[in-house]
Amino acid sequence: MTTGTPARDAARVTEAVKVYGSGDTAVRALDGVSVGFPAGRFTAIMGPSGSGKSTLMHCAAGLDTLTSGTAHIGDTEIGTLDDRRLTLLRRERVGFVFQAFNLIPTLTVAENITLPLDLAGTGGSREWIDSLVDAVGLRDRLHHVPSRLSGGQQQRVAVARAFAGRPDVVFADEPTGNLDSRSGGEVLNLLGRTVRRTGRTVVMVTHDPVAAAHADEVVFLADGRLVDRMENPTAERVLDRMKAFDGTAAPV
Ligand code: ADP
Repeated sequence: MTTGTPARDAARVTEAVKVYGSGDTAVRALDGVSVGFPAGRFTAIMGPSGSGKSTLMHCAAGLDTLTSGTAHIGDTEIGTLDDRRLTLLRRERVGFVFQAFNLIPTLTVAENITLPLDLAGTGGSREWIDSLVDAVGLRDRLHHVPSRLSGGQQQRVAVARAFAGRPDVVFADEPTGNLDSRSGGEVLNLLGRTVRRTGRTVVMVTHDPVAAAHADEVVFLADGRLVDRMENPTAERVLDRMKAFDGTAAPV
């Protein structure tokens, strides 16, 4: 960061509660989580399976609604938007990278990358798209369809697509879950590089300490609560922190 001003949150949830179901079978997936994801930073959400990571990401990104509490993208409170405005917010201000790549099989790499801009009806900036194509290292594959690419290459296309519309925040849900460690490492390096070079914001859900170590900061969930935050993580420190959970972690 080159500015001396305090970091603004690109996305934030406050007192977030999410209950699935009702009565005896109700599950409290989020139990009063307040967390901000600072602009210009790469934040990882870690926690054991079932701790609420995906639920937190989905509610923060406007893919799901909170039972109580608030979720903001920048200064916009998601819960106040009608369906049309919510669709626009997701399209124009949020990018997504999913475990399963989710590219359109009949479109070329180039068309997949510019899809969000085409949907928004804006051409976007040619230089920005060009810089993304260079960042993902697939200039010679631009006119191929995804099935001709490896999994790692497909996920790099998905990363470029997620950033194409210069969203406020890119949410990545286990983006290396379907990749071998080498391709996964390339995708994580790409996410980290894009954040550091362009000042964009990434929030990534992962259960892998090696993946989390690529982030600037890790937030830890356990049983639907925020239990810790760690700056400048290493895989070893994240792993140690995860081992310490075992049901004994006190909420912060
Ligand atoms: P994580 O991503 O950390 O594995 P999730 O956010 O997927 O955790 O799940 C948190 C809790 O909420 C779990 O107990 C899970 O079973 C429950 N849960 C998640 N989604 C649903 C759903 N659609 N219906 C009912 N329970 C759900």
